[in-house]
Order: sequence, then structure tokens, then C-alpha cells
Amino acid sequence: MSASSTYVIAGAGLAGAKAAEVLREEGFDGPVVLIGEETERPYERPPLSKDYLLGKAERETIYVHPPSWYADNGVELRLGVTVKGIDPAAHEVGLVDGSRVRYAKLLLATGSSPRRLPTPGADADGVLYLRRVADSDRIKAVFQTASRIAVIGAGWVGLETAAAARAAGVEVTILETAALPLLRVLGPEVAQVFAGLHREHGVDLRLGVQVSEITGSNGRADGVRLADGSHVEADAVVVGVGITPNSQLAEAAGLATQNGVVVDARLRSSDPDIYAAGDVASAYNPALGRHIRVEHWANALNQPQAAARAMLGQDLAYDRLPYFYTDQYDLGMEYHGYVEPDGYDQVVFRGDVERREFIAFWLGGGRVLAGMNVNIWDANDMIQALVRSGRTVDPDRLADPSVPLDEVPGG
Ligand SMILES: Cc1cc2nc3c(=O)[nH]c(=O)nc-3n(C[C@H](O)[C@H](O)[C@H](O)COP(=O)(O)OP(=O)(O)OC[C@H]3O[C@@H](n4cnc5c(N)ncnc54)[C@H](O)[C@@H]3O)c2cc1C
Repeated sequence: MSASSTYVIAGAGLAGAKAAEVLREEGFDGPVVLIGEETERPYERPPLSKDYLLGKAERETIYVHPPSWYADNGVELRLGVTVKGIDPAAHEVGLVDGSRVRYAKLLLATGSSPRRLPTPGADADGVLYLRRVADSDRIKAVFQTASRIAVIGAGWVGLETAAAARAAGVEVTILETAALPLLRVLGPEVAQVFAGLHREHGVDLRLGVQVSEITGSNGRADGVRLADGSHVEADAVVVGVGITPNSQLAEAAGLATQNGVVVDARLRSSDPDIYAAGDVASAYNPALGRHIRVEHWANALNQPQAAARAMLGQDLAYDRLPYFYTDQYDLGMEYHGYVEPDGYDQVVFRGDVERREFIAFWLGGGRVLAGMNVNIWDANDMIQALVRSGRTVDPDRLADPSVPLDEVPGG
């Protein structure tokens, strides 16, 4: 059996499509096979809970490439095909139809899947998750007929769906176990901003509650029973309780996995010919000095570019800071950096929190660990520079909008 020159990419989402693009941009002229279990060509997910769900963006705008791009660039796009296994010794992937594809290098870009609700009644019709474009279509259709929905989970997807539902005139009850929305990501100081935002827009935000059952009749959900016995009526229930990485293939193949496929700063796994990028990768980030798995768009956009180059033998590390954004009602924000829920000792606000035009900084030991600009659009580079510099800052001067961010003195 001759050695293959084929580069195989498992998972045809944003990360997979970007990797294929960069392989060609970098001059790789061997075969590239991009395999995806969805029947849609690669698309971006952020619009599914924002403009596409709101009916403001057309379907064509969500795709990573035009349909002809794949053939034009010699990328064999195999859709509706699940990769079932990897044989690292044989350098082969096995597909759902029993066929096998040999690879010289393999990129795992299998992303992640929504965590399912283990609650009784959760498999009824009208219990909806949001990951794929068909999910967004289904929820959009519900907005046309429903008068009220329940959203379980006040994370990014739950909150954005709630905002879209309100825009469509649907009553929304959000049910969240924690004391505030987004508490584990943002901490209480900034999480409060999101609680206020949704309440102001008429959302019934119920915090610190436990869901015990999805109620329904004739197999169709009609509400949510809480552990205290109370009942929330709903025409549909949207569940957004987090995601888990699709790392089963890697695990079964004996690769190192821990909360995702463990890869080094060059996105290489414990097998030298297998790489991972995007939501599925737990990558060593030199800027943070630790492994981190990032479940965000910018990571799925940029990390595979580094992975593709590494697959071609270039020696470069991926050291971008984590970055993500959200749009809810009239609030747009961007977040740069990374901080554990108990990893900071102070939050400094700069600007007008009441009017929701501010920057929040998370500080630890006097250093800026992360920054978030809310409805302020000219501060990205300076926030990132502050985080990257690792220098101490004077919190009072950091809070003072008259002091330029790049001139904030040390603490
Ligand atoms: C509704 C929604 C809104 C979002 N909004 C934002 C936002 O505002 N800001 C932000 O930063 N991020 C946002 N994200 C997150 C962002 O979309 C993800 O980080 C990004 O999609 C990850 O891309 P990926 O290519 O790594 O994985 P995915 O997008 O999950 O793509 C992986 C693909 O691989 C396929 N696959 C999996 N296993 C196999 C297999 N065995 N064989 C073949 N194919 C397989 C999957 O079906 C999928 O198509 C949002 C996500 C969702 C769902």
C-alpha cells in the first residue's frame, strides 16, 4: 500500500472549511478531503441565534464559501457523511458507509454538540436545541405561532434566543440554576448587567431555580415544572445548557483527550499526524501558559489557519487571546482574554454602566486578565495590548476615561 498524500479534514464547520482554505492558500497541491456529517456546506453559527433567527439575514449569508469554491479549489467536499473511526497505525479514517480514506495528515474539526437535558419529558416535541441551521429555522417558525416560550439555561445561546424571541413579540421565561445569567463566565459584577438588560426587555428571569420536569400532553411540551412545584407554561421550550466537545473519535483512537482533543501550541495531538482545531481542541496557549478549549467563533476562524500551516510543516504557535462577542437587543459586546470564575480579585468599570457604554476589566494581582467592551467599538487593540502586556495597572486611572488606555500608569 503506497503512502497517501491526502490531507483529510473531519468536520465541515467553520474550522474545517478554514483549514481547507489555508492549505490551498499556502500552496498545498495534494488531495484535500473535507468530510462533514451535516448535509449543508460549511456555515457559521453565530447568526443562527442573531440576525438569521431574527429574519434579518438571508440564508446565503451564513456560508463560509460560495458553493463553487470547493470544486474551484480542488477540495473534495463530502457532505452527509460521518467519520466513524480513525486507525492511526494505518493512517485511515473509516466512514459511515464502510469505506475508508487514507491520509497523510488528519485534522479533527468536529466541533461540539449541545448537552441534552436529562429531565423527564425532555424528549417531547417542542423541546428545542440550537446548534444547526435547521434548529434555527425550527425556532424561528415557533416564534411565528407561540405566544410564550421557556428558555432553560442563561448562557450565551439561551440569552440570545430570548432576545430574538422578545423581538418577535413572544413572552419569555428564562430558567437558570445559577444566581445570575452568565455567572460562571463573567462573575457577578458583569453578569448583573445582563440580568438587568433582559428584565428591562420584559423577560421573566427566574434565577436559582431547578427544572424537574418538562410537562406536556400528547407528546408535546406545554411547560416546565420546577423543583419547588411551580409550573411555567410555555408553547415551546428552548434548551441551552452548554456543549460538549465531539472528541469521541480521538478517544476511541487512543489520542490524549481531556475536555477535548489535547493538542500542543502547533495544534498537534499526541499522534504526530493528527491535528485538532476549533471547539473540539484543548490547545496549549503560550500566551496563557495553559491548555484551554475555546467555544467561540474567532477561535474556529483563526486556529485552523495555524493548524493547516503546522500540517504543512511550518513552525508557528497559535497564541491568540481568546475573543468572543454577543449581540442582544441594543447591547453589543466583545470580550478579550480569559479568566476563571475565581481567578480575579477586582473588576474595574470604565464608562457608563447604566447606559451600557463601558469597558469592564478583570484584574488579578493588579494585572488585566480580561477586558470587555460594551457598545464601545474603538478599544479592541488597546484592551488586548493591556491583557498581553501582563503589566500592573493603577485601577483608579484605568477607570478614568480621560486617561488613554495605552497610557494607564502602573499600579
Ligand atoms: C447558535 C450559536 C450562536 C453562536 N454565537 C456565537 C457568538 O456570538 N460569538 C462567538 O464567538 N461564538 C458563537 N458561537 C460559537 C461558534 O459558532 C463555535 O465556536 C463554532 O461554530 C465552532 O466551529 P467548529 O468548526 O470548531 O465546530 P462546529 O461549528 O461544531 O462544526 C463541526 C462540524 O463537524 C461535524 N462533525 C462532528 N462530528 C463529525 C464526524 N464524526 N464526522 C463528520 N462530521 C462531523 C458537525 O456536524 C459540524 O458540522 C455560537 C454557536 C451557536 C451554536
